[in-house]
Amino acid sequence: MATNGSQKKVGLAPDRLASFYGRDIVSVMQFSRDDLTYIFGVADEMRSLVKRVGATDLLKGYVLGNLFYEPSTRTSSSFIAAMERLGGSVIPIHGVQYSSVSKGESLPDTIRTLQCYADVIVLRHPEIGASAVAARYATKPVISAGDGTGEHPTQGLLDIYTIYSELGAVDGLHVAMVGDLRNGRTVHSLARLLRLYDTKMTFVAPDILQLPADLKAELEDSGRVVRETGRLQDVIADADVIYVTRVQKERFDDLRLYEAVKDYYEITPELMEQAKPRMALMHPLPRVGEIHYDVDDDPRAAYFRQMENGMYVRMALLAAVLGKV
Ligand code: ASP
Repeated sequence: MATNGSQKKVGLAPDRLASFYGRDIVSVMQFSRDDLTYIFGVADEMRSLVKRVGATDLLKGYVLGNLFYEPSTRTSSSFIAAMERLGGSVIPIHGVQYSSVSKGESLPDTIRTLQCYADVIVLRHPEIGASAVAARYATKPVISAGDGTGEHPTQGLLDIYTIYSELGAVDGLHVAMVGDLRNGRTVHSLARLLRLYDTKMTFVAPDILQLPADLKAELEDSGRVVRETGRLQDVIADADVIYVTRVQKERFDDLRLYEAVKDYYEITPELMEQAKPRMALMHPLPRVGEIHYDVDDDPRAAYFRQMENGMYVRMALLAAVLGKV
């Protein structure tokens, strides 16, 4: 967001004000561990509020511009639900083919337009860095809902929040990330956030789907050991969190390569027998065969709770960037 000093709000702790109020959320790199603790505390409050009374009028009169250039089920609908449960309203632009984007309008112009009507903009876009570009042109906060194969910061936040909710802590855990680590933006945000904690990370993928070299270097430069393997067997018995991802078909230029790797892993009830009795099996969803449906009733299967958590975290973020918490 272009800075606007007049929006300063009295009453918020100055450090939290600096972190959230009026700020864009375009990468998890902008967060400190204290920021996370703070936002998770607010998310807890949002959860109990929703369970108790369903909704509040904290953001009454505020409007969210929900701009999606790529498909979405959970992220888009949880942002809408979050805004509406906070008493605000939403301009949903989901089929950009029906907007002026299809007439050739540029992203900056679309953002300039939407911010005339909205107080905060959520953007999903196929290009890495698109939300940072949007944020440069916007005078209202821009929240990334995923930019191509780059990052998905709000998903990263809800993933850490879910680890806390499932296991009570993040420090000391072994987190194994499995699947399309090259193209999966949720893993990119999660791995970056986990640097803030004392965790062991293992990346499980066939060679062509391993972490991008620059992210690997970034993790190593921050003093983390990057353990890579192609075998689930290497982590199944030791991991506290197994974070499974879909092979991102839409990112492959050569679909033969996709076909070669798409069925590389499947979490089955038999495999789960080898996992710890207390652990969390997570997935950002959608799944397309990586986790067998028979695993769903396993109490360690956390992916449906994980997507519910997304709404509480997004409620917390909307309230925070609009200076209401
Ligand atoms: N829903 C997540 C995303 O938008 C994960 C996925 O699509 O595989 O990145």
